[in-house]
Amino acid sequence: MKRIGMLGGMSWESTSLYYKIINEEVNKRLGSLHSAKIILSSVDFYEIEKLQHLNKWNETAYILGMEAKNIENAKADFLIICTNTMHKVYTLIQDEITIPILHIADATAEVLVKDYKKNILLLGTKFTMSEDFYKNRLINNYDLNIITPNSKDQDIIHKIIYEELCLGIINSDSKDEYLRIINNLNKDNKLDAVILGCTEITMLINQNDINIDLYDTTKIHALKAVDYALS
Ligand code: GLU
Repeated sequence: MKRIGMLGGMSWESTSLYYKIINEEVNKRLGSLHSAKIILSSVDFYEIEKLQHLNKWNETAYILGMEAKNIENAKADFLIICTNTMHKVYTLIQDEITIPILHIADATAEVLVKDYKKNILLLGTKFTMSEDFYKNRLINNYDLNIITPNSKDQDIIHKIIYEELCLGIINSDSKDEYLRIINNLNKDNKLDAVILGCTEITMLINQNDINIDLYDTTKIHALKAVDYALS
């Protein structure tokens, strides 16, 4: 079994989901007392979030690059960055290490393509929804149609992520807001699927809430790590 490197803490709420999913899946596949081999580095999200909102992405990459090096030195065989947003600096982090990083958007797109999904709504932080680093990977490498909410709705989604979900706060009004946004966009765009492109959104909405296929990046990325670790 390969040793999984996890760069987490962004937020720790979703990193704990990764940890649980990965261990449960390894146990499901190998049985007995088997569990995953993991090197986890969990950052202080306060520092990262401040830098993000000051547009100091190189500084975030410096911190995450150092942590990635620590994980490599601790003998992880590969790395997952346990957040969609911080894939904005994926290349800068990969430049610091020789072990491969399994990109969260690739893992997600591979499942969408396999399921013949084409018209896709992307939900996530404002960075993920409004900038090109994530969307273009899905469009250019996987030929997906990516739809994003309007700017006002992006602000609502973003605020709920940082002010509630990253703090473990689950609010039913916020859930209604997310479902309203998805349902409205579905009317106009005939969606095939929705990417929960922020690793905390799965804490707020799940497949029982809505009649459109949801693709949870936390679960997909965690399972991709297990596939790779056991390959
Ligand atoms: N976990 C989130 C994501 O998947 C947001 C927190 C962050 O900014 O990293 O994008």
